[in-house]
Amino acid sequence: MKNIAVFPGSFDPITRGHESIIRRALPLFDKIIIAIGENPEKQTYFPLDKRIHWLEQIFTGETRIEIQKYSGLTVNFCSVVDAKYILRGLRTSADFEFERTIGQVNKVIYPEIETVFLLTIPEYTALSSSVVRELLRNGGDVDRFVPAGIDLKG
Ligand code: ADP
Repeated sequence: MKNIAVFPGSFDPITRGHESIIRRALPLFDKIIIAIGENPEKQTYFPLDKRIHWLEQIFTGETRIEIQKYSGLTVNFCSVVDAKYILRGLRTSADFEFERTIGQVNKVIYPEIETVFLLTIPEYTALSSSVVRELLRNGGDVDRFVPAGIDLKG
């Protein structure tokens, strides 16, 4: 049986922090599905097609990485794609508290699932999509925060 992990998020936009977690997790699983959660009530900075496009660009050639969108509960999506693992990154104790609640509830409603956490590498601890968006709004340079070769203005 294949070990499939889902890495859920908004990726609005993808950062080097996300990329690092995905690449470091790849040896642990047979397949990682990067799952972009669609929430009609949540306004995003970048449209879905662009967020998908950048993910495809970054991981082109990585046959064990898939990019998909989903709506609804992450555990329901996991069940549809037969994933037994949810992958998450941990930056701070605030991340931990937030993830603990979700992870424990997910375990109750879908006991087959395990949430797997990787600690961020120190240089990416302060990095988030919202920091990147704030810089963009104010004309800042974000190149060092987003994966190499990604042009957010393109
Ligand atoms: P969400 O909408 O769930 O906040 P994000 O797209 O911001 O989704 O993040 C998806 C996952 O990536 C989460 O597990 C988050 O903790 C992780 N992540 C985000 N930024 C970083 C970073 N700089 N280092 C490590 N993990 C990160």
